[in-house]
Amino acid sequence: MSTALYRRYRPDTFTDVIGQEHVTAPLVTALGKDAVSHAYLFSGPRGCGKTTSARILARCLNCSEGPTGQPCGSCESCRDLASGGPGSLDVIEIDAASHGGVDDARDLRERATFAPVRDRYKIFIIDEAHMVTAAGFNALLKIVEEPPEHIKFIFATTEPDKVIGTIRSRTHHYPFRLVPPEPLLEYLERLCTAEGVEVAPGVLQLVLRAGGGSVRDTLSVLDQLIAGAESRSLDYDRAVALLGFTHAALLDQVVDAVSALDGSQAFLVVDQVVQSGQDPRRFVEDLLERLRDLIIVKSVPDTPQAILRGVPEDQIRIMQNQVGSIGAAELTRAADITASALTEMVGATSPRLHLELLMARLLLPHAESGQASIAARLERLERRMDFTSGAGTTPPGEAPASGHPAEHTTPPTAPSTPQREAPRPHAPAQESPVSPQPGPPQPSAPQSSAPAAAGQTSRMQQAWPDVVEAMKSRSRVLWMLVKGNVQVSGFDGENLALSFSNEGARNTFTNRGGEQALAGAIEEVVGIQVRFSLGGQSAPPPSQSQPPGGGPAPKAEGRTAQAAPAPSSAAPAADRTPAPAPEAVPEPPDDGWVPPTEEPPDLPPPESGYAAPAHHEPSTAGARSDSPSRSARRVPDKPVVPAFARRSPGGRAPRPETQNNPATPPGGHSLDGPGADIRHRLASRQPAPGGAASHNGAALADHPTAPPDWAEAQPPSATAEDIASDDDAELEHSSVFGRKAIERILDGVLIEERPLNEP
Ligand SMILES: [Zn+2]
Repeated sequence: MSTALYRRYRPDTFTDVIGQEHVTAPLVTALGKDAVSHAYLFSGPRGCGKTTSARILARCLNCSEGPTGQPCGSCESCRDLASGGPGSLDVIEIDAASHGGVDDARDLRERATFAPVRDRYKIFIIDEAHMVTAAGFNALLKIVEEPPEHIKFIFATTEPDKVIGTIRSRTHHYPFRLVPPEPLLEYLERLCTAEGVEVAPGVLQLVLRAGGGSVRDTLSVLDQLIAGAESRSLDYDRAVALLGFTHAALLDQVVDAVSALDGSQAFLVVDQVVQSGQDPRRFVEDLLERLRDLIIVKSVPDTPQAILRGVPEDQIRIMQNQVGSIGAAELTRAADITASALTEMVGATSPRLHLELLMARLLLPHAESGQASIAARLERLERRMDFTSGAGTTPPGEAPASGHPAEHTTPPTAPSTPQREAPRPHAPAQESPVSPQPGPPQPSAPQSSAPAAAGQTSRMQQAWPDVVEAMKSRSRVLWMLVKGNVQVSGFDGENLALSFSNEGARNTFTNRGGEQALAGAIEEVVGIQVRFSLGGQSAPPPSQSQPPGGGPAPKAEGRTAQAAPAPSSAAPAADRTPAPAPEAVPEPPDDGWVPPTEEPPDLPPPESGYAAPAHHEPSTAGARSDSPSRSARRVPDKPVVPAFARRSPGGRAPRPETQNNPATPPGGHSLDGPGADIRHRLASRQPAPGGAASHNGAALADHPTAPPDWAEAQPPSATAEDIASDDDAELEHSSVFGRKAIERILDGVLIEERPLNEP
């Protein structure tokens, strides 16, 4: 059985009183000058040293050397009045809480008439003076007003306002304050050393916070921790649990979650707090405290220790890392929100609800205001949670886009068709083994290949049309590329596996910064950050890896699907396709692609890509059965096939860029101007054996604005082949010929270049 710390370490002199220098210094000075009042009023919060100071004052007054500011400590009075001493007959402590009545006051007045037994003064210390009744004060009034020489009064109270004015005005009033953390922390450290207690980093800070600036409270907390500590060492976990604070690690998690806008993490912490039985209010308080610490670390980056006293070094380092990812405005806003949430939580029937709402508000980015953006951000949060938690709360049909419910079962491929096919015509029907660019059978692949992540994969697939649409505002080229060529083949909440319809598409995607743009679009729509794994099936050369059988599948619901596989023998849709494909060479591709100069037949505009499968499939399917008449209907006069599509179907593989060179005629309007020189050079090096090439060359050179007469053009002969030339590269990169020209003229993106006659 040991006495409490605060009693054992009660100071005996004013110099030992910590944190009250504003009171003790003038008192000591007054005592040294023998300027002693007959009544003192010590006021201040509990546990900050009022009663102790009153006893010290009594000791100072009655010291045989005194009155003095420094009691000798050796005289009889000093020894009696020291802490642990028996007390003195001449120093009378009265607890007004129990002796505040008028009778007690009369009794006191009676005792005051007697002279001190041994010492200089008879000193009455009236504790809790505010508890003295009005009648009691009035009974005292006379003696306090004109006390005998040997009488001194010291009133101590937490509520000086309740001491009646007539008494108060006859006293010297010394207001005590809460003790600031710094001296208190030093005091605690000294005390722990004296007690032989090892303290883990951060514990004393908890003790300080628990004590709230009151020395007695602080020492009581420390006393309790020491009493409960094994082998006299205080460890952090036990302290944090005992004192009911939020563990710093938990606060770190919340801060990290908020800075990363990671909803799942934040709500996980909320759940942890609730499950552990911790008071949500206390948690919010601690969070607010942490935010305040972060603001300080942010504002005083070099020496935060000077302000954050008692915070362990490693904790400060953690906070320094944390403020790296949160802006000052964000921090302030978070603190504001937290502070108001704390106010709202007072008396709230469901503190947990308030805590969760607080989290939701913290997770909203603050950049914009306004109802719409708030709604959007809430939605983003919902989606994020949906994605990351994997809780399939959102019905598949309803999740991502209110506007396109129909497509959600087959989202990625939906928008594919129109743009996507622009470059494809150079793979006419007969070359279908090559042409099924659609590539791997993505639609079915994800579900079957990744059963575990199937839920997330399908959610991502549902959101995919929206992601694709979000790409539009970032890069039109990438949008078109992604729209038709990229599909979600797997998603585990973090890694997004994309499959490309062909390698060209993937290369273009990569070269044009597609990953960055797509990541941005995904974050905008879904609200999560993903890592990409590109490729999958696209890595091997598409023509080999996707033989006819695999080709058609991915575009199954698009018009391409019907068109492309048609000629290929193994295509599932072949039964519906009349055989004529091979000899239909000069005809337009079955999918109805028409060079851009022509009026696009009934292709949907790019923007309607979502709807394409839904309402075009039937018509396309119907058209399939009467392909010839359909072609005739669409392209009444001339088989509209671009030159590059017809030029060398039977010949050896031409170089891709030269194959594309004649593609400019369809664009027509761009053939004059700076490229004339190049055009002439190109024209001059055309072997021109079969008419088509030479015709095109002539058309290029002589009739730049007039599209060649496609009807008269002969089917390309097998002898049409290109001779590699030094300026191929130059041509390729000029904006007049080659890839760039095609892209510019078609306002599209060239997905893939491929020799025409390669199987
Ligand atoms: Zn003394």
